Amino acid sequence: MFNTSRTAPAPASLAARQKYDSADVYEALSEIFFDKCYICETKEPHDINVEHFDAHMKDLDKKFDWSNLYLACSRCNNIKRAEFNDILDCCDGAVDVFRAIKHVPPITPYAKSVRLVAMVTDGRTVRSCQLLEKVFNSDHTANKRVSGAFLRRKVFDQYNLLLDEIGSYYEPAATDVDKERALERMKVLIRRSAPYSAFIRWCILDDAELSEMLEGLMD
Ligand SMILES: [Zn+2]
Repeated sequence: MFNTSRTAPAPASLAARQKYDSADVYEALSEIFFDKCYICETKEPHDINVEHFDAHMKDLDKKFDWSNLYLACSRCNNIKRAEFNDILDCCDGAVDVFRAIKHVPPITPYAKSVRLVAMVTDGRTVRSCQLLEKVFNSDHTANKRVSGAFLRRKVFDQYNLLLDEIGSYYEPAATDVDKERALERMKVLIRRSAPYSAFIRWCILDDAELSEMLEGLMD
């Protein structure tokens, strides 16, 4: 998960209380969430939903409350439903959702699972970790098994991009220019706006040398 902030004001269409997913809402949410699902971090997923952080259960105040609207891929939205109403809020500036849960990427494209570790033990972190477990590792239906494997492969592809840069950085014949170039490219991969940034950032945090240079950029 990644931290963000809801800087945009409520889109005009919400005031009419007719639709909570009009074009202006999508547009504002895309900006806030960098075109990513706030749960799995898939960038520009082919099916995206406006989702209610706190399930509205026909409560109109919750249904049209701007601060309750998030951007999620349909798969995560479907897994979360009202069952996970108590997860970490990535828009809450007081909470560091990225550091709360360690994301360990798959080490092969066809890995059976990824590892998610709650770094603190408060209820919301634990619940978020349980949700992420379901999102990345669950195989409770045939459909989820196939789409989960596809998701892990996409995470692996991004991790592989990082591995290329780590390889270039530590290559014995690397010049200062080579190292600088590799670092600049790693900086792109750890941006909040990048896909699967939590997985990529935790790889960097696990490296004694790279973490010293790059951790300061992990907002
Ligand atoms: Zn998702």
